[in-house]
Amino acid sequence: MSSKKFSANWPGLIEAYKDWLPVTSKTPVITLQEGATPLIPLKSIEEIIGRNVKVYAKYDGLNPTGSFKDRGMTMAISKAKENECKAVICASTGNTSASAAAYARRANMRAFVLIPDGYVAQGKLAQALVYGAEVLAIKGNFDRALDIVQEIAANYPVTLVNSVNPYRLQGQKTAAFEIIETLGEAPDWLCIPMGNAGNISAYWMGFVEYYKANKSTILPKMMGFQASGSAPLVLEKRVNNPETIATAIRIGNPVNKEKAFNVKKESKGKFLDVSDKEIIKSYNLLGKNEGIFCEPASAASIAGLLKCKKEIPNAATVVCVLTGNGLKDPDCAIKNNEASFFSDLEPDLESIVKKMEL
Ligand SMILES: *Cc1c(COP(=O)(O)O)cnc(C)c1O
Repeated sequence: MSSKKFSANWPGLIEAYKDWLPVTSKTPVITLQEGATPLIPLKSIEEIIGRNVKVYAKYDGLNPTGSFKDRGMTMAISKAKENECKAVICASTGNTSASAAAYARRANMRAFVLIPDGYVAQGKLAQALVYGAEVLAIKGNFDRALDIVQEIAANYPVTLVNSVNPYRLQGQKTAAFEIIETLGEAPDWLCIPMGNAGNISAYWMGFVEYYKANKSTILPKMMGFQASGSAPLVLEKRVNNPETIATAIRIGNPVNKEKAFNVKKESKGKFLDVSDKEIIKSYNLLGKNEGIFCEPASAASIAGLLKCKKEIPNAATVVCVLTGNGLKDPDCAIKNNEASFFSDLEPDLESIVKKMEL
């Protein structure tokens, strides 16, 4: 455990891991001090599984804009700045646009974001607007938006910052480094939600790099989870009209699919789908029993783990990636919880105490 790194003076992941990243002393580092997110033990999940299995959440929803996308964006925007680019563009289910906007504006660049109209969670849209993005909402889904931005980036002076941008994955691989440094070893399993499958590919790259440098002695099994209505990597075919409550992974044609299949093969991992109901169950479990509020997409990693809990070896160490912060999607939270909420109460002590049933 390198306690020194994880101090209040954390410089951001490029500075912390510059020897492992494609940067030079000339790269202008655009940072919001992303990275160094906590690895939180999940006791209630451990109790469900038993057999001395250890379960942790890598809570990447605690990054500056509330999702792991910041890890990739600090790299993508710093490299874009190094190449004197003046504008960036992305297609987004929400988090990429929030992150791209924050880092691009910090670098004094224009940020264009294409989003599927009506399918971006409120918090994410709010962020893109406040960070000064130029938002273009299309009457089409994410996959269509990505086709369009790829075409624009090929023909106009704007840099694409979706996860086809190789610098994104370079930045994101640092989460695997942090996990190994905190645990002193790689976990036996890594559970992660998959949309475009950039993140699972980035984690694998990080685990392999540290393994080859003798910083760990094992490589994790990579367990990738998708929502049942949006599971092209499980079905191994494109899904034309992906649907799920987990809008961050509502993607029918993942750009990193070849990489993802390779990760599954090399890590002897597994891809599985989980229903929206299972996702919401885990989302509530994390909130109620652990005090952790994540996005529905992030809860897919817990739902997936619980779905294949019988396959976990005894005493294994499992890390579940919580990709985004629950505050991103307040509508989902308010519509899907098991809380008691009494309204229209008279403002007098007696009737309130009565409701409390103490
Ligand atoms: C982007 C995102 C994902 C999916 O990551 P991919 O790299 O596209 O597989 C999962 N959860 C959240 C919260 C995201 O923002």
